Amino acid sequence: MAAQAFRLLIAGEQVGGDRGTYDIVNPATETVVGQAPEASTAQVEAAAEAAADAFPAWSRTTPEERAALLDRAADLLRERMDELIPLVQAETGATMRVAKTMQVPTCIERFRRYARGALEPATIPLPPSEMPTTALAPGGIMGAIAVRQPVGVVACITPYNFPIVNMAGKIGPALAMGNTVVVKPAPQDPLAVTVFGEVLRDAGFPPGVVNVITGSGADAGQALVASEHVDMVSFTGSTPVGRAIGEVAGRDMKRLLLELGGKGAGIVFDDADLATAIGTISSVWAFHSGQICTAPTRVIAQRGVYDQVVAGLQKAAGRLKVGDPLEPDTVVGPLISDVQRSRVEALIAAGVEQGGELVVGGQRPDLATGFYVAPTLIAGCKPDNAAVQQEFFGPVVVVVPFDDEDEAVAVANGTEFGLYDYVFTADTARAMRVARQLRTGNVGINTAQRNHEAPFGGFKMSGVGRDGGSFGLHAYSELQSIVWPG
Ligand code: NAP
Ligand code: MG
Repeated sequence: MAAQAFRLLIAGEQVGGDRGTYDIVNPATETVVGQAPEASTAQVEAAAEAAADAFPAWSRTTPEERAALLDRAADLLRERMDELIPLVQAETGATMRVAKTMQVPTCIERFRRYARGALEPATIPLPPSEMPTTALAPGGIMGAIAVRQPVGVVACITPYNFPIVNMAGKIGPALAMGNTVVVKPAPQDPLAVTVFGEVLRDAGFPPGVVNVITGSGADAGQALVASEHVDMVSFTGSTPVGRAIGEVAGRDMKRLLLELGGKGAGIVFDDADLATAIGTISSVWAFHSGQICTAPTRVIAQRGVYDQVVAGLQKAAGRLKVGDPLEPDTVVGPLISDVQRSRVEALIAAGVEQGGELVVGGQRPDLATGFYVAPTLIAGCKPDNAAVQQEFFGPVVVVVPFDDEDEAVAVANGTEFGLYDYVFTADTARAMRVARQLRTGNVGINTAQRNHEAPFGGFKMSGVGRDGGSFGLHAYSELQSIVWPG
């Protein structure tokens, strides 16, 4: 069987990389899944230019035309699900359950959501306002509307954890709003995104409206962010890279949507339902090996239940099957790469050296291949422990004890991040009081479940701007005011 060729998409043409290809490695088997194109910076620039050329006509299409194309893309994605699920599974190392229920279906849902989004009103009526005569102009009753306009060319740069879901969450609203896009997935697992590009071309998006570039090194993303054709950067990834992008984008006043790192606090009060708290926190291990920015990785447990929380988590961690992501009962798969595993292991070692107590895990499970880290629990941490302050992006939970509510809030707010925190308590008034004091973009009360219509994004170093539902649509727009004498 001939190996499948994965291609870039530039100005409606599927092309190879000018600099050849590089290998994509399956994180569980360490075998090669396929070859990704290695784009040159000239190809990156050509993609950005194609998007700029396509913008005037695309931005004038009707909302109905854009909605129909987004819906068509969702249909084609569904038709190619049987091909996409094993591909995205193999390149991400996700368990079959995560690949089947999350990676591909969520991507389709996002396209459906923003097909509807294209039809949302882009005009905000304002009440007439009485203005006196001034040196500038005669007075009168001034009418006004605010109109949502597309920003222009949007560079969409995504992390490795959920490659096509993250990409769909950017492309969907950006296209619905009338922008054109250049897509740059993470270097570790870009193959399904290239197929996704082909699907969008087949769906009938005009040439240049969607472009896909891939590459193994930092220069593809850097060239894209710096391109004079790019008007906005929508980036999801780590805080240091977000900062670097913000600095470059700021020079040309490029618009930014930055979804960055997190260190989710899970505050467990004495009156909490511990089964719920422990089950929710266990998702750090059980959901994509902790490679998720919103996870409750930093448990802050009140002293009255502290021992029970630690014992409960220890028991839960021991029950999870670690291993081959293709086996249906596997819960914890590998991390994306050897590099990522080394980062996680180094931070575990630092956490223990700084006084954390290794309760469970910390070692590599006994498996022949794969970039695995066993589910790990580090308890008894001081708030300033590196393992409490820094993001693992792996299957590691740390626990810090606290005495009272004020201390819990202070510890929760005591990192540079502010993405997603959780409060576990039976007292609703307390939950709301604490939530309002948390300097974080999202708070889950007794649940890790999400509401996709709610605004999603970070305070502090966790980002700038908001995704989610109509908020995500508006993120890809500029407001224009139009005023007239009534
Ligand atoms: P990453 O190392 O920041 O990389 C993300 C993307 O940025 C990749 O496509 C990367 O490709 C590109 N990139 C790196 N340097 C760049 C530069 N100077 N200019 C332009 N692009 C550049 O993140 P990751 O390791 O893939 O993902 C894990 C991180 O993502 C964690 O910090 C996690 O919290 C965060 N995350 C946040 C959210 C959220 O919604 N807030 C969701 C998921 C993940 P190259 O390296 O090839 O350049
Ligand atoms: Mg990188």
